[in-house]
Amino acid sequence: MFLDPVVEDVSVAVYTVPTDAPEADGTIAWNSTTMVLVQIRAGNVTGLGFTYGPVACAAVVEDVLAPLVRGRAVLDVGGAHDAMTKAVRNDGRRGAVGYVLSAVDVALWDLKARVLGLPLYRLLGAVRAEVAVYGSGGFTTYSPEQLAAQLNGWTHDQAIPRVKIKIGESWGTCPDRDLERIAQAREIIGQDCALFVDANGAYTRNQAIRVVSAAAEHRVDWFEEPVSSDDLDGLREIRNAVGADVAAGEYGSTLDDFRLFCTTQAVDVLQIDLSRCGGITEWFRAAAIAAAHHLEVSGHCAPHLHAHAAMATPNLRHLEWFHDHVRIENLFFDGTLDPRGGSVRPDPQAPGHGLVLRAADAERYRIY
Ligand SMILES: [Mg+2]
Repeated sequence: MFLDPVVEDVSVAVYTVPTDAPEADGTIAWNSTTMVLVQIRAGNVTGLGFTYGPVACAAVVEDVLAPLVRGRAVLDVGGAHDAMTKAVRNDGRRGAVGYVLSAVDVALWDLKARVLGLPLYRLLGAVRAEVAVYGSGGFTTYSPEQLAAQLNGWTHDQAIPRVKIKIGESWGTCPDRDLERIAQAREIIGQDCALFVDANGAYTRNQAIRVVSAAAEHRVDWFEEPVSSDDLDGLREIRNAVGADVAAGEYGSTLDDFRLFCTTQAVDVLQIDLSRCGGITEWFRAAAIAAAHHLEVSGHCAPHLHAHAAMATPNLRHLEWFHDHVRIENLFFDGTLDPRGGSVRPDPQAPGHGLVLRAADAERYRIY
């Protein structure tokens, strides 16, 4: 008989995890990371999704999203996504409301795959056998010793052939130190490894061009958010002036956001964060927009949420193996992935996205 379960229960928990060292990029500093985790149950099967966002997300789940999802057919993720998107019109689809809508969407996809007994990437339809990742961290607060240890860990211990560091320290006021750190990074990783930099919007247009031009001998392969990602004209101007690929898109919330990155020719690679933009459902639509402009996409942060969708995305370049999120996901879950060699391969035997919450380990960080 056809199995057609319905969602019975939606629950949310919030955890704040201190960083393992003070961290900053070009435009913000932090000493902890907050994860909002959503679990959705049908019978004795539970799907799990999460986002990195403020504790206020929990109230959005309980007051707005859970009532829309409860009682819906587990198989009809699209219907739940559509209902949630329409319902949050007045609450703000962009920002934290969209972040936690994304977590619910991921939990629904995970639940559907688990109900069907399939790994999520098989349900979505794999187009590749593994997903390339790049090591990401290199915070501006790191000492040369800390930076060296992190870069050596990725490139030498784990054999990941691409890494990213933060530049644009203190809103672009320390360009000499940015250049020193780029030089140090290239020295450590050698010539065969790709070097990415991310300014998180810290520079002005001309300054961004000057800095990356001054670093030419160290070959920067990827220049992320050299200026604010709201400055589409600036991104295009920089893209036309530098050899590195220009990337942005991590704050993209709606399909219009992603369309504008493409139609204004602002980026060489479109970044998409499915834990922010509307989950797995919206990831594929955003990736299709990029494909229609002959652009590749790259998954931003929350690597274990992206791995399965990335397996099923033809125009994927890679995923960001972000230090903070990798650390938290390894602390909280069984079934995390191994990036050794520079790529991850989801477990073909594990249903859903394969993550299993170790509730007792997470509990000490719980704030809601
Ligand atoms: Mg970034």
